[in-house]
Amino acid sequence: MTIANSASSNSQSHSDSVAAEATALLTIDLGALRSNYKQLRERAAPAECAAVVKANAYGIGLEPAVSALLREGCQTFFVATLGEARRLRAVNRQAAVYVLDGLFPDTAKLFAALDIRPVLNSLDEIEEWSRFCASQEAALKAAIHFDTGMNRLGLGGDQVEILCAKQVLLRSFELKLVMSHLACGDTPESPKNAEQLDRFNHLRQKFDGVPSSFANSAGIFLGADYHFDMVRAGIALYGGHAVLDQAGFMEPVVKLEGRIAQIREPRPGETVGYGAGYSFGRPSRVATVAIGYADGFFRVLGASDNKRGATAYIGEYPAPLVGRVSMDLITIDVTDIPKNLATRGAFVELIGPHVTIDDLAAQAQTISYEILTSLGGRYQRAYIGAD
Ligand SMILES: *Cc1c(COP(=O)(O)O)cnc(C)c1O
Repeated sequence: MTIANSASSNSQSHSDSVAAEATALLTIDLGALRSNYKQLRERAAPAECAAVVKANAYGIGLEPAVSALLREGCQTFFVATLGEARRLRAVNRQAAVYVLDGLFPDTAKLFAALDIRPVLNSLDEIEEWSRFCASQEAALKAAIHFDTGMNRLGLGGDQVEILCAKQVLLRSFELKLVMSHLACGDTPESPKNAEQLDRFNHLRQKFDGVPSSFANSAGIFLGADYHFDMVRAGIALYGGHAVLDQAGFMEPVVKLEGRIAQIREPRPGETVGYGAGYSFGRPSRVATVAIGYADGFFRVLGASDNKRGATAYIGEYPAPLVGRVSMDLITIDVTDIPKNLATRGAFVELIGPHVTIDDLAAQAQTISYEILTSLGGRYQRAYIGAD
């Protein structure tokens, strides 16, 4: 069945394949994902551009994202966990796959069985991988992570010294990559970037001939000194601004629309929603939209106690949130929107041409990463632009 829809402009996202029962629709543009990948790859060239597809490819769906990126020529992927790597392997058997969270005790055989490469984050992990490789009589592939200032994962300078003194350890497996991660890449003026770069350059020189990787999305924009042999693109692939204050660079990948369940006409002085924290100063029209915090539409986006909420759009018309966000519903003020557009069953833009993931993140006092990775499991998902 087709959703008849006049309110929202993009008919492509409301194709015949979308069931009429959709109450909220998440449209994922794999063509935009591919185009972003191409753009980042060109910017990073001659470095290889790997794709970071952890957390279900930042919420958009690991399998479709990986398939699209493979078609664009991507050959290396980073995930956070072995479970994510396993899902990736079910899509593709050839690509190089690294697990950023590293080697947990007694998981080496699982990595080996799937041909997955752990990012070894400590001497303990390196020793365990080395022991496993010896037991298999196979020099299996892995990366080593240096801590250059994040203090989260990776070997510090002292531990790298110890490692280098144990050449037998290093000879027991195939070291495919040395890497580190920026703490302040999104803030180009931070002196921390150059400090980390210096430290990384110092450490990587001890591993002659081993490819190096340093930059995340933001690092790609810090310039060629940061690119080395491979960059690791995440958020920018998915349409997020990698660098603060740098506007409108990547193509948006995600569009989110909620559907109007009903229209109400509160009188002046009436309130809306839990807590009755928002009251109307004029005769109003309010649309109740079927999306809520259970869908990852954060409660902090609501309006109450004189605090302005986020803004939704119907066509070109802004519709501010009024009242709190409930589990399954929000309410928006459509008083100033033509009646034929704000109707029962119409779609309302929550993320799209007028509201980027970075806009919504700013409203929610968070970052686009959290907006994307919180996208709910209840949305009807439509993938477009696959070929
Ligand atoms: C998540 C992650 C990335 C990708 O970062 P973005 O800012 O999303 O580009 C790269 N490297 C490591 C180690 C990561 O954890």
